[in-house]
Amino acid sequence: MKSVLLKGGRFLFFHSLKATDYQLRAGRPRPYGSLCFLKFPVLSSLFPLKIVIVRTFGDKTTVYARPLARLIEQLQRLPGVGPKTAQRLALHILKRPETEVEALAQALIDAKKQIGLCSVCFHLSSEPVCEICRNSTRDNSTICVVADSRDLIALEKTREYKGKYHVLGGVISPIDGIGPEQLTIHALLRRVSQHSPEEVILAISPSVEGETTTLYLGQLLKPFTKVTRIAFGLPVGGDLEYADEVTLARAMEGRRELD
Ligand SMILES: [Zn+2]
Repeated sequence: MKSVLLKGGRFLFFHSLKATDYQLRAGRPRPYGSLCFLKFPVLSSLFPLKIVIVRTFGDKTTVYARPLARLIEQLQRLPGVGPKTAQRLALHILKRPETEVEALAQALIDAKKQIGLCSVCFHLSSEPVCEICRNSTRDNSTICVVADSRDLIALEKTREYKGKYHVLGGVISPIDGIGPEQLTIHALLRRVSQHSPEEVILAISPSVEGETTTLYLGQLLKPFTKVTRIAFGLPVGGDLEYADEVTLARAMEGRRELD
């Protein structure tokens, strides 16, 4: 770590030339992540003018050492993880043996590198074609369409459905810029027209976007095959993923043909 003595007895510590890496010491405490402007001509010619405070001293809210702050920052990017949970997880990780932490890091990297999408149904898979699509004992005459892999997993847990799946990769949501072309709808249409299944079951959460997607797919697929949708027991606006297994199984049994 290098340090530079500034006029007026201020110290500037830094690890590298990246703006986010600076640590400013002395001077009045500044909040974490705030911007500070260097007014010293010598330094401003060497470094960017804007410096992000990553750690201030004497400020109770910014007490993390830099690697710990970075870990908390990364964990906080995960869905459903707020600052407090991120801190709890980070401190827990630090307490675990190094081998355990290495195994966790390796599992993250392996999962990211080795898991892709099935080329037939777009479910998560470590092979080009997923286990469900390769399974010859499963019924080829029905395709169950779901928004994402989480919904497929939820349906699989019911053990009620023995057909094949198709994962859309989301639902139509114009407000988020997701139209039919952003989803795997074209591949579904090709699959249905090529293999002529007896039935396509639409198992999409009944939210506003889910309904739009269901109606859109219904219109699109009806010329090719019988199209049904699951309906029973699922709360409107609810997520398929969070429904219990019995409710989901009933919903599947009670599917009806799309008008
Ligand atoms: Zn598949």
